[in-house]
Amino acid sequence: MIRVGLTGGIGAGKSTVAKTFIERGAYHVDADRIAREVVEPGTPGLAALVEAFGPEILAADGSLDRPALAARAFADPEGIQTLNGITHPLIGARTQELNEAAPADAVILHDVPLLVEGHMAPFYDAVIVVHTDADVRLDRLVNLRGMDAADARARIEAQATDEQRRAVADIWLDNSGSPDELAAQARRVWTDRLIPLRDNQLAGVPAELPTEPVPADPQWPAVGTRVVNRLWALLGGTATAIEHVGPTSDPTVPAAVGVIDARVTVADAAAADRAAELLSAGGFPPLPGAEPRVHATVDPGRPARVRIVVAD
Ligand code: ADP
Repeated sequence: MIRVGLTGGIGAGKSTVAKTFIERGAYHVDADRIAREVVEPGTPGLAALVEAFGPEILAADGSLDRPALAARAFADPEGIQTLNGITHPLIGARTQELNEAAPADAVILHDVPLLVEGHMAPFYDAVIVVHTDADVRLDRLVNLRGMDAADARARIEAQATDEQRRAVADIWLDNSGSPDELAAQARRVWTDRLIPLRDNQLAGVPAELPTEPVPADPQWPAVGTRVVNRLWALLGGTATAIEHVGPTSDPTVPAAVGVIDARVTVADAAAADRAAELLSAGGFPPLPGAEPRVHATVDPGRPARVRIVVAD
C-alpha cells in the first residue's frame, strides 16, 4: 500500500481531485470526517470535551455545539492546547485504524487541509498540492460556496503560503483552468505516477532510474530536501545522519544524471540491517544489480537512490 497526502488552501479544488482518485479506487481517509466522528454523541471524545469545557458546549440534542466550543477553546492558547490534546490523539488513533484496515494494494488517500501547517509531508509516499491563486479562491468561496468574504479571507490568511506548499509538493496540480482540466490532470497523475508507484511498492522493486545526464535542474536541492525529510520520517533514530550528496546536490554542476543521491549514516551493522528493512517497507527497496545497502525509490516521478553507510 502507499499513502498519498492531498492538500491545498481552502477553496483550491481538493474535492475535485479527491473525487477523481476515489472513482478510480483510492482508499479515502477523510481528515475532516474523522475530526467530526471522534466527537460524535456517545464518544469518549465528546465526554472529554464536556469535562474540559463544560456542558455549555453541547447543543439541546446532546451533539457538539461547535460555535460554543470555539468560543471557549479559542479564547486563550491554553484552551487550544486542551482541545488539541483531546482531539489529536483520537484523530491519530482512528486514522491509524483506518490505514491498517486498508488492503495491501491500496492507494490510501489522506485528504488533509492542514498537511503543511502540521508538518506532515514527510509521512507520505507522495504529497499532492492543488493550487489556485488566493484571489480566485476567495472569489470561488464567496460566490460558489456562499462563504462570508471576511471569514474566507481570514481563513486563507491563517493558512500556509503558496511557497510553503510548493516546498513539500511532489506533485503540483494547477487549478486555474476548468474543473474538467483539473480532473484530467488528476487522472494522468493517477495512471502515470500513483499506480506505477503502488505497483513497484507491491513488487518490491524500484522505479527505473535515469542514466543520461541532463542540464542541472534548479529544483534539485528542494527535491533533495524532500527526500532527506522523507528518509528521516522512515528511519528516525536508526540513522545518525542523512544527507543529499552527489552531483544533484552541487549547485555549480552544469549537467548531471537527474537522480537524487542520499547518504544514510548509521552507527553499526545491526543499524544498517534495520535501516535496510525500514527503507524497503517505506518505498525504497534494494536496487537490483547494485552493491549491498544501496536502495532506490519506487516513485517513477522522483528518482532517488539511497546508500547506507556504517560510520567509522
Ligand atoms: P477545497 O476542497 O480545496 O476547499 P473545493 O474543491 O470545494 O475546494 O472548491 C471550492 C469551490 O470552487 C467549490 O465550489 C468548487 O465547485 C469550485 N471550483 C473548484 N475548482 C473550480 C474551477 N476550476 N473552476 C471553477 N470553480 C471551481
